[in-house]
Amino acid sequence: MQPSSSSASREPVGAADLPEVLVLGTGGTIAGVAPDGQRATGAGYTAGVLGVDRLTAAAAGVEQVARLDLRQVCNIDSKDAQPALWLELARQVRAWRALGLAGGCVITHGSDTLEETACALDLLLGPGAPVVCTAAMLPATALSADGPRNLFDAVRVAADPAARGRGVLCVAHGRVHAARDVSKLYPARVDAFASGERGPLGFIDSRGLRFTREQPQHVAGRLASACDAADAADAAWPRVELVCSHAGADGALVRALLAASRCGQLQPALSALVVLGTGGGTVHEQLQAALDEALAAGVRVEVVPRNGPCEGGEFDGLNAVKVRVQLLLQGLR
Ligand code: ASP
Repeated sequence: MQPSSSSASREPVGAADLPEVLVLGTGGTIAGVAPDGQRATGAGYTAGVLGVDRLTAAAAGVEQVARLDLRQVCNIDSKDAQPALWLELARQVRAWRALGLAGGCVITHGSDTLEETACALDLLLGPGAPVVCTAAMLPATALSADGPRNLFDAVRVAADPAARGRGVLCVAHGRVHAARDVSKLYPARVDAFASGERGPLGFIDSRGLRFTREQPQHVAGRLASACDAADAADAAWPRVELVCSHAGADGALVRALLAASRCGQLQPALSALVVLGTGGGTVHEQLQAALDEALAAGVRVEVVPRNGPCEGGEFDGLNAVKVRVQLLLQGLR
């Protein structure tokens, strides 16, 4: 299982009358280190090197905002994340919430799959003490690294009672996003995250935290039972694959998946396909023929827009990778 490097919880650091914030470190560029000679640009850095204690030490003044309880869950490049990480994080947050302390939880994460982890946690965790994911676009050793600021802001949000009951949040570049809406839009810009037409839920800056819109609470914790259903170590995840409709899409990938499933080469066998469709969810006729074969073989097929989030229905607001996250959690055993 991926979350393998958990360190024991330490005595929280900070004044006893401050709210308590659990900081779960998972790696990412925020914990990244660039080679000597590349420190200014961050080029050639390695993600997931520094421990969460080093990250909080760099976030000057954070100990005046909250008492910090630091735990290293793993230290990876989030491109390599496994769904087991979602369950492990959900479990740690639930155990911490059960203590009934004032404050919340922060998760330091790579930006690449932050939206998947945040969406999974939003589905797994009910409303309650704030859960705030944060990331950085520059490694910790870079000139003007954005990680310390983002982490500092994430702790401020997690410690603020105004953030309670809003589902899982993502904080970066002074913006507070809803897990459901946020996606990484730019591969290298410091303001990499956006929430589409809905926009951020709020902002955090020198004047403090301001929520500027409400987040409908209909999804937070909707799949909480998935967390109980399986232990992170032995969870049986279904196979849910993404395919895209495009000029020339002929269904060859879908047929290859079906053939490999049929002969037992693919373990677990294919159980669902998320299809990135054109327009309002249309699919190339040749790909559609292969999808019809998948349906006949008992595979669930969900066509979602390839250019934006779903509108309405079960997946309202989710982009394709988040639809996949939801289907994975729904099929977890
Ligand atoms: N590859 C890195 C990661 O997702 C990128 C980042 O954190 O910005 O871990």
